[in-house]
Amino acid sequence: MREGVRHRKSSIGRCPICRREVPAADNPYRPFCSERCQLIDLDNWLSGRYRIAGCPADPSLARRGSSTADPNPDEAEP
Ligand SMILES: [Zn+2]
Repeated sequence: MREGVRHRKSSIGRCPICRREVPAADNPYRPFCSERCQLIDLDNWLSGRYRIAGCPADPSLARRGSSTADPNPDEAEP
């Protein structure tokens, strides 16, 4: 059954960062090709999150944050 061996080719993935072919088996950094690309992806992910967290696009979130410190903002500022 040589076809069974051929089927194992599907275990080869592609690094989402540098698009290199990466063998999924025996690869601690999969789906990345290396620790470097893993860190790059992590950095992208974190910077994306921080941008969302620091973005004042959603005022309800910011208001909720301040209301935690001041439960009655209307009384404090008439
Ligand atoms: Zn890579």
